[in-house]
Amino acid sequence: MPKNKVAIVTGASRGIGRSIAFALANQGANIVAVDIDLPSTEATVAELKAVGVEAIAVQGNVTAAADVEKMVAAAMDKFGKIDILVNNAGITRDALLVRMKDEDWDAVLSVNLKGAFLCTRATAKIMSKQRYGRIINIASIVGQMGNAGQANYCASKAGLIGLTKSNARELARRNVTVNAIAPGFIATEMTDKLPESERQKLTTQIPMERLGTPDDIANAVLFLAAESSAYITGQVVAVNGGMYM
Ligand code: NAP
Repeated sequence: MPKNKVAIVTGASRGIGRSIAFALANQGANIVAVDIDLPSTEATVAELKAVGVEAIAVQGNVTAAADVEKMVAAAMDKFGKIDILVNNAGITRDALLVRMKDEDWDAVLSVNLKGAFLCTRATAKIMSKQRYGRIINIASIVGQMGNAGQANYCASKAGLIGLTKSNARELARRNVTVNAIAPGFIATEMTDKLPESERQKLTTQIPMERLGTPDDIANAVLFLAAESSAYITGQVVAVNGGMYM
């Protein structure tokens, strides 16, 4: 388990990212919490410190290379190493294909895919030198099965799975593993946006008959982040209540 490890978590101030940060902290990892909104990230960091670990808040947009460099520099200044990177920051801009605006496409691809690329590129240099690292990308079930009204989001998450596999191949000999988690439908502000009728329809397609929780995803992160998961790389771990097999 990640005791005394250093973990960067993007999009850490709420939802799944917040649960991931707490799960890692509860196992003794020090946390670099990255998010656009500084006050909420600082509030999360204060709570993380109460768990008894070191934590810092970094205001950063994962789509901006300069912010990503700032994130890595802050982690190295404070802790001198980066063991775990969780690329969790993500957005949706849903619309049917024919109505989807260029800016909806660009925004989603930029945060969900380019953001993960930038954070991985900056962090992989350090992990390669260390000869140790765990990179975990939060993809999505819809990157595997598609979803009407989410062409941009599904493409970004399918792209993230391709990025995961390519990076896994490149970094394996440096003892850096790269894996993805594909959550099903998880109860967060992202899915709160769904109309109740849509949520009910979705639930009927889930063999477990419920939405997942952020902790369901955080538990899978803990598994992949562990030292003992050293021989698992390039994989997509589905955490979806059986919705897609
Ligand atoms: P959420 O509640 O909307 O939280 C997303 C977090 O990412 C927020 O803290 C947000 O910051 C941050 N963020 C957004 N854009 C960012 C950027 N450019 N740079 C840095 N941080 C940014 O979403 P969630 O449901 O927890 O989702 C987390 C991840 O899981 C996403 O990648 C999502 O695609 C994936 N996922 C979610 C579900 C689900 O059902 N919820 C299913 C499959 C996959 P602000 O607070 O500043 O906006």
